[in-house]
Amino acid sequence: MSAVSATPAIAGRAKKGLVRRFVPDRSQLTRQTVQLLFVGLNACIGLQFFLWVRYFEHGGQCLYVPRPAGVEGWLPIAGLMNTKYLLLTGRVPAIHPAAMYLFLGFLLMSLLLKKAFCSWLCPIGTVSEYLWKLGGRLFRGNLRIARWLDLPLRGLKYVLLALFMAVIGVMSADALDGFMQTPYGLVVDVKMMNFFREMSGTAAVIILALVLLSMLIQNFWCRYLCPYGALLGLASLLSPLKIRRDQNACIDCGKCARTCPASLPVDRLVQVRSVECSACMACVAACPAQDALQLALPPRKAPSAAVRWYRRTVGPVAIAAALAYIFLGVVLLARATNHWQTNIPRSVYMQLVPHTDEFSHPGM
Ligand code: SF4
Ligand code: SF4
Repeated sequence: MSAVSATPAIAGRAKKGLVRRFVPDRSQLTRQTVQLLFVGLNACIGLQFFLWVRYFEHGGQCLYVPRPAGVEGWLPIAGLMNTKYLLLTGRVPAIHPAAMYLFLGFLLMSLLLKKAFCSWLCPIGTVSEYLWKLGGRLFRGNLRIARWLDLPLRGLKYVLLALFMAVIGVMSADALDGFMQTPYGLVVDVKMMNFFREMSGTAAVIILALVLLSMLIQNFWCRYLCPYGALLGLASLLSPLKIRRDQNACIDCGKCARTCPASLPVDRLVQVRSVECSACMACVAACPAQDALQLALPPRKAPSAAVRWYRRTVGPVAIAAALAYIFLGVVLLARATNHWQTNIPRSVYMQLVPHTDEFSHPGM
C-alpha cells in the first residue's frame, strides 16, 4: 500500500558539502511530551471509568463519579458504526456519540496532518514505541524484517480493516441502532475494561507475545495489525503535509532512512507519500544537514526570480497545536451540542453493569 515518489538513483551523484544545521531539533522532545500528556489524560479517564463501574458493581454503596465520555475513544468500531448511522440518517446517535466525534476528529487529523495521531497521540503507539526502544537497548538493536515478508505482513491490517468495513457496510441504520441498544452495545465499554481486568490465560499469552514482538520489531502492532492505523493511513494519503527532502542540501548520509521506524527509504525520496509515514519527524531530527529534510506543505512558487520556489515548513509546535485544536474542537463541539454524553439513566446501568459478563455479542 506504500505510495512513494522516487528520485533518480543516488549512485553517481556528486558528493556535496555538509552545511550543518544551526537550529537544534526539538521535534522529538515536543512529540514525546505530547505523547506522555495524552497517556496521562487516558490514565485519568481510565481511573475515573473504573470508579464509575465500581459504583454500580457495589450496588451504589461507594463513591459515585460521572462516567467519562472520553472512554469511548477506545471504541473505534462503535465510532465507525455511529459515523455510518450519522451518514445514513443525518442524526447523531444516542449511544456512544463521543466515540463518533473522536473517530471523526482522528480522521480529520489524518486528512490534515498525515498519520500524526499514531505517533503523537495514540497511547498504544506510545507504548509500542517505548517497547521497541527498550528492546533495542536490551537486544542491541531491533529486527529488520526482509522486504518480501514485510510487505505481505503489512497487508494484514488492511485485511482486518476490510473485514470490519464489510460487516458494518451491510448494516442498515435500524440494524446499527438496534446493535447499540442491546445490553452488549450499552455496556461495551465495561466489557472492554473487564477483558483486561479478568484476562483469560489465552488472552494473556497473546498479549505477552505481542509485547515481545513489539520489543523485537519496531512498531509491530501498528505496522502489521492495527486496522485503525490502516484506515488513518489511507486517509493520510490526502494530507498536503509530507516529509520533503531537498536533494541539493542532502548529503546522502542515509541517517533519515536508518532512523525511520516505518523503514521508509526517506533518503531516496523527494517526498514521503507512504501510508506508513506517521509524521513522527524522527527522520528530520536525525538529519545533520540544514534544510535538507522537513515536514512541509507543498512548495509554492515565489514571486522573486532569485528564489523560484519556497517551502512551507511545519514545525513540531505547530503540529502539537493543530492536534490540540482538532481534539479540543471536536470535544467542545460535541459538548456544546449536547452530544458528548451517552444519556442512559443510572437505574439502567445499575441493572446492566453488574451483569456485563453475561452479555455476549448479538451476532454470536
Ligand atoms: S518518514 Fe520520517 S516522519 Fe515518516 S515515519 Fe519515517 S521517520 Fe517518521
Ligand atoms: S539524513 Fe537523509 S535527508 Fe538528511 S542529509 Fe542524510 S540522507 Fe539527506
